[in-house]
Amino acid sequence: MAGGAGIMPMVKADAYGHGMIECARIFAAEGAAAFGVAEAREGILLREAGIEQPVFVVVGTVPEIIPAVLRHRLTPVVVDEAILPELSRQAVELGLRVGIHIKVDAGMGRQGLPPADVPAFVRRIRATPALTLEGIMAHFPMADAPDSPNTLGVFARFEAMIREIGDELPAGCRLHIANSGALFHFNRTVLHMSRPGIALYGCYPEGEPHLPLPDGEELHPAMRFLTRVIQVRRVPTGTGLGYGQTCVTGRETILAVLPLGYEDGYLRRLSNRAQVLIHGRRAPVVGRVSMNLTLVDVTDLGGRAAPGDEVVLLGRQGGESIGADEVADWMETISYEVLCLFGNLNDRYYVD
Ligand SMILES: *Cc1c(COP(=O)(O)O)cnc(C)c1O
Repeated sequence: MAGGAGIMPMVKADAYGHGMIECARIFAAEGAAAFGVAEAREGILLREAGIEQPVFVVVGTVPEIIPAVLRHRLTPVVVDEAILPELSRQAVELGLRVGIHIKVDAGMGRQGLPPADVPAFVRRIRATPALTLEGIMAHFPMADAPDSPNTLGVFARFEAMIREIGDELPAGCRLHIANSGALFHFNRTVLHMSRPGIALYGCYPEGEPHLPLPDGEELHPAMRFLTRVIQVRRVPTGTGLGYGQTCVTGRETILAVLPLGYEDGYLRRLSNRAQVLIHGRRAPVVGRVSMNLTLVDVTDLGGRAAPGDEVVLLGRQGGESIGADEVADWMETISYEVLCLFGNLNDRYYVD
């Protein structure tokens, strides 16, 4: 089925920091079948931007947001039976037949119906005239780990559940479970639709070093994060740098002062740890990253650093590059979080 499977780009979290509307327009032009968001609020923004594809609110729906979901023709993902009576009542009131998808917990251990409850649930929806079961979904917890048996185990549970539903499965009901990792490493789990997120933004779900893609291609990161040097200073040996004086210069040092800090998502964890690119070379962050200022040791650039110089915190400059996975290692997190922080806390500019 993978050949004709639709793609549902996940554009939650403002498209992982890349800008939901801009990304959704690009993905729509490339043939996206649907979009996935976490909150109805995001779906409304997509509708207001003119996105016509189905929009899935994948973390479930609370009663308060049903009117907005219905008004904007968003697709509710139903995670338990609590929402059904109210959803049905409001649909009847508006004279609508509402298509829903069910979220099943086939092994993620986070949200959704237990597989054993799904056959009865399907019958219940079939008996609710205002609701149409358009799809059933689950989510993989470890699809970025091809050597783990976890993914095929979760998939087997999902398939067994579908078999159990048997003839009660409505015609045209779409099944989907594959995220980026599954698309790359467990392609046969792509059923009627896949839901990639991180791969669309150019990062590998497993981080670096990454596994080869099936077709031998490489991903290209979409995001760069830049700032400019605001001041260059020369300080003597033995100078304590910044809050806590966590770094004391061991030589006469040239410092580039950067006008960014943890407020901008450049987390304090990066203190005395991260590197940046300036004049196409790496330079280390020295001292604590503070709320709005960060220091970089540019002594080895031989006096070339000057106020106004471009500094790359994420991305390529000249022949060097710093990837989201490298920043993630310094931050003790994953690329997803780095992209959300940098992208969603700073101004975005789009270039071709
Ligand atoms: C975020 C999300 C995805 C995308 O996962 P990636 O690892 O970024 O590809 C897919 N499905 C659901 C339900 C999600 O919440």
